[in-house]
Amino acid sequence: MVPHWVRGEETAALIEFPGQAQNTTQKIVLCALGDSVATPPEGIEADVIALRNFDELKSMPRDKVAGKIVLFNYPFDKQMAAEGRGGEAYGEAVVYRSDGPSAAARQGAVACLIRSVGGADYRLPHTGQTDYAGDAPKIPAGAVTAEDADLIADLVRQGPVKMKLVLTPQTLPNVESANVIGDIKGSEHPEQIIIVSGHLDSWDLGTGAIDDGAGVAVSMEVANLIQKFHLKPKRTIRVIAWMNEENGSAGSKQYAKDHGKENHFAAMETDGGAGHPLGINIRGTPEVKKMLAPVAAILQESGAGILDLVEHCGADIEPLEKAGVPSFSPIQDSRFYFNYHHTAADTLDKIMPKELTENSAVVAVAAYALADMEQPLPR
Ligand SMILES: [Zn+2]
Repeated sequence: MVPHWVRGEETAALIEFPGQAQNTTQKIVLCALGDSVATPPEGIEADVIALRNFDELKSMPRDKVAGKIVLFNYPFDKQMAAEGRGGEAYGEAVVYRSDGPSAAARQGAVACLIRSVGGADYRLPHTGQTDYAGDAPKIPAGAVTAEDADLIADLVRQGPVKMKLVLTPQTLPNVESANVIGDIKGSEHPEQIIIVSGHLDSWDLGTGAIDDGAGVAVSMEVANLIQKFHLKPKRTIRVIAWMNEENGSAGSKQYAKDHGKENHFAAMETDGGAGHPLGINIRGTPEVKKMLAPVAAILQESGAGILDLVEHCGADIEPLEKAGVPSFSPIQDSRFYFNYHHTAADTLDKIMPKELTENSAVVAVAAYALADMEQPLPR
């Protein structure tokens, strides 16, 4: 069963602000965050306060926050992303999306807006899940574009700013859905499984080509390549398209319940778009990295020979990671990914066919090597 949240109307305007010309309002471009509750259909009108971070919120007396719309204007670090650390930049900023609304609600805010998490600079809002805490009232939550966040913060510095905010998403009863799973049975150890995966769901603003159509395509292509080359892997290669990664991970949780006791040799997930791969992330012991050195030597021919030990390889394989299953993901070029991810611009034209095939090649080589490895991987 997966959540069924449906986006509604989402509009906002500044209706009072410093320097306002008579009979004008200032349009604000925004979207609701996944799981957001609604405003009344006619919207709410309230003063806006702009904060840079949680520390600023904590330093505010409650009566300065109560009854207001709180904007968290925490910028996504575009320089960090430009240097190839897009995932880290995302990690720093995304806590305001997940935890900001409840933090603001605890101090009496009537709605919470965040600066869009990502590098988009065509005034596109960035959606994604918010996580309401049990101990705070649920207040409407949205993301304004980076440009609008800067505008609001600048006006708030100059004087009182009042916003009219309309968000009318609905949470409907949960619905039945499914992971999609296919096995190429191992010829010698069919009971030992290597998972190759991406996630099937995506946010609604775009088409989900990079997040995560690419990961599903890469994983299906692994099975296709193995069959095309008439390879007979010794262990089972299991391709999974996970359901509901974006707003609840119900698919991976259900898989852990239904299949958690099976013998998982390794798990891979591709969920970082289709940018050129530089190698393989490993969540495992340093010995696993050593064992993969010959694989890295082969991948080095296409510039994908790096092996990195990391903490985490994918949201859907996390239950397996926690159970100690060695996990892997391609190291992908993340410089541009967060310009499009979770926005209306996540569309197929952002994917370079050559780079997509490079990702399939890296994941296929790694999966086949794992399937035919002589020794078990240390845990
Ligand atoms: Zn994803």
